[in-house]
Amino acid sequence: MSETPQPLSFADFKLNKQLLMAVEEAGFEQPTPVQEQTIPLLLAGHDVLGIAQTGTGKTAAFGLPLLMKVKYAQGIHPRALVLAPTRELAMQLEAHLKKLATYTDLRIFAIYGGLGPKTQIETIAKGVDILIATPGRLMELYLKGDLVLKELKTLVLDEADKMMDMGFMPQIRRILEVIPRKRQNVLFSATMPEKVTTLSEEFLEFPVRVEVTPAATSAQNVSQSLYEVPNLVTKINLLEYLFLDWDTFHRVMIFTRTKEHAENVASFLQRKAHGEVRAIHGNKGQNVRINAMEAFKAGDVRFLVATDVAARGIDVPQVSHVINFDVPLVYDDYVHRIGRTGRAQHTGAAITFANEAEMHHMHRIEELIRQQIPVLPIPPEVEIAKTSFDEQQSMDREKDERRKREDPTFQGAFHERKEWIKPGVTIDKRTGREFVAGPNRSQKGKKVNPSKGKSSSPAAKAAKAAKGRAEHRRKR
Ligand code: AMP
Repeated sequence: MSETPQPLSFADFKLNKQLLMAVEEAGFEQPTPVQEQTIPLLLAGHDVLGIAQTGTGKTAAFGLPLLMKVKYAQGIHPRALVLAPTRELAMQLEAHLKKLATYTDLRIFAIYGGLGPKTQIETIAKGVDILIATPGRLMELYLKGDLVLKELKTLVLDEADKMMDMGFMPQIRRILEVIPRKRQNVLFSATMPEKVTTLSEEFLEFPVRVEVTPAATSAQNVSQSLYEVPNLVTKINLLEYLFLDWDTFHRVMIFTRTKEHAENVASFLQRKAHGEVRAIHGNKGQNVRINAMEAFKAGDVRFLVATDVAARGIDVPQVSHVINFDVPLVYDDYVHRIGRTGRAQHTGAAITFANEAEMHHMHRIEELIRQQIPVLPIPPEVEIAKTSFDEQQSMDREKDERRKREDPTFQGAFHERKEWIKPGVTIDKRTGREFVAGPNRSQKGKKVNPSKGKSSSPAAKAAKAAKGRAEHRRKR
């Protein structure tokens, strides 16, 4: 990770004694590259645009200069605001900054949705120096008059790419309208899509850009590999096989595309694999998610199954593996997912399972991260299950839809294929099985003339009646 010939120490930044003690206590021996570059710039009062993913030490990179600046508890209203896309990240930021502020009297507090605002309002009323917030909850309390933002001198936007993905741009614009113009700004993002560039232009003043890895490259100390797995059941079989090796796979995060997959994988592991399992996704209550994260961090849980949004901002040091049970459709999420392993100064491994439809997305991800991920053969011990008709259909449909998006003139191969498996055999679309005509299915093989259907529309009926009346008049 380090590219500097002579490693700096935290003391070289001239941080105050309280912060240096906390850094030492946290076990940070030397600054990470993003810290080396960002800390002096922020201490000198610059705006910073940081391109760094979770795991690089970016929180302390903006946190230490922020704590230096805000210095000690003063007044009631917050003087610094850190915006985060999710409550999990907000909580993580709060814990991290509080740890670094151990030897100061600073009041650091996070507000987020999913919980009633009452306790949060009470805490704010007692006085806060550094406020961490999700955009929605911030605006809610501001508009109710429970939050005064006129003392803000610093604004940090963390994981800006995720904020844009989650549609927070309008809220951020409103927030920028109501806070003081004269302030220092920091924006961190793992990737730099168009929207984040636009946001950074609106929000930062003459920023200095800090980039620890080229945009959208994945963590350098993560080894990545890929299995081409034909279907869901085989994915499960492969999981089961890999997890027999407890020593290697001791603390694993498994990502799925949907809540349903998260539930299914978690209940399978509960039944078949050794070790505790927890699942976090949008349908889980806030407390369940917090408990699951804490238990996983404490090492009491071997497997944490998560969807992308639920997993945002989770800081779990030393995750042995990230398994992408499904390939993410938002490609940047791949970078975020694998950032959960190989965190600062640890190595980790990310393993992706991709079916034939998902392989297309993997190639796009490889383009994005500018790396080719080695494909491993499925071990012979893993049973390769037959792909169910429904699953094959949904993969074919996905491929078709994608081709149609890429080429609007493409007619789609899916419809022709789904009718037939071999000449002369019709597949019943509802059951997926061979079509067999029942005793009252005498229509089989008979050509149906749609105009002779029994139930024609009222308009057609009226037209037919009018035609009949005209015919009758003509005959008379
Ligand atoms: P972040 O990228 O801020 O989410 O940090 C990722 C992890 O790296 C956290 O667990 C931090 O405690 C840890 N970390 C941050 N800075 C350092 C450092 N200089 N040395 C060792 N670990 C660090």
